[in-house]
Amino acid sequence: MTETLYSRVQAALSSLQLTTMAQHLDDLTQQAAAGNWSTLEYLDQLTQREVSARFERDVQRKLRLARLPFFKTLDQFDFAFQPSVNERQIRDLASLRFIANSDNILFLGPPGVGKTHLAVSLGLAALTTGLSVLFYSVADLLDQLSQDARADRLARRMTTLCRPQLLILDEMGYFPLDKRAAQFIFQLVSRRYQRGSIILTSNKSFNEWGDIFPDHVLASAILDRLLHQATTVNIRGNSFRLKDKLRATASSDTPAKTKEK
Ligand code: ADP
Ligand code: MG
Repeated sequence: MTETLYSRVQAALSSLQLTTMAQHLDDLTQQAAAGNWSTLEYLDQLTQREVSARFERDVQRKLRLARLPFFKTLDQFDFAFQPSVNERQIRDLASLRFIANSDNILFLGPPGVGKTHLAVSLGLAALTTGLSVLFYSVADLLDQLSQDARADRLARRMTTLCRPQLLILDEMGYFPLDKRAAQFIFQLVSRRYQRGSIILTSNKSFNEWGDIFPDHVLASAILDRLLHQATTVNIRGNSFRLKDKLRATASSDTPAKTKEK
């Protein structure tokens, strides 16, 4: 490429904001010449650099917006420790078909069994394919809603919560909801119904949901919509958080043996 032609292409790419193409113009032009690429091959290489850089930036932006409490993947989940979790079922959920179908997932079980971990790892799987995710613990959501009510922006919050392709609502049921919160959750679940997936985690079984909500009619209306197209994963087992403690207790039960070693 002559110097002027080169500068003209550089300038055009910059003014079109094709910054990654501009960055790779030099090396790809040289590679194309050395490798005898066809014009289409060259164009393909150049445009693909831009496409993947933009995709990567988009993923990073969505990752920041998702408010995930930590980053843990499915590969970091020890399925052997939690035999009530069916690895095949979880790996199948990670194919993200549930999001394409706007289905929901409910992870139920006592504290520490990995509900949030699994929810987050499915969220991460979604984010890496370019989908949008939003994570809220129910407690944080309720705090947010009180502030929103005072600032008269509940409607805007509803829109924000309906936009992402996957909404994760963590820790439903740790404390009861008042009427306003319950109605908001009902509206949220109704608005997302068959439009956008929800992953919900809870320490309460469905028949205890009446205790979370101020009235049973509302509780069953919410459950009805949540469960219509949903996968429920019941996790029964020991808390992973207490794993080492349990082990320590077990070994301190047999001090003589431990000392003998
Ligand atoms: P829950 O939401 O059910 O209370 P978490 O998902 O927060 O439990 O899990 C508690 C901690 O233990 C987290 O740090 C999580 O990554 C870890 N954890 C739980 N279960 C497993 C598991 N089976 N394999 C690896 N880490 C786990
Ligand atoms: Mg949790």
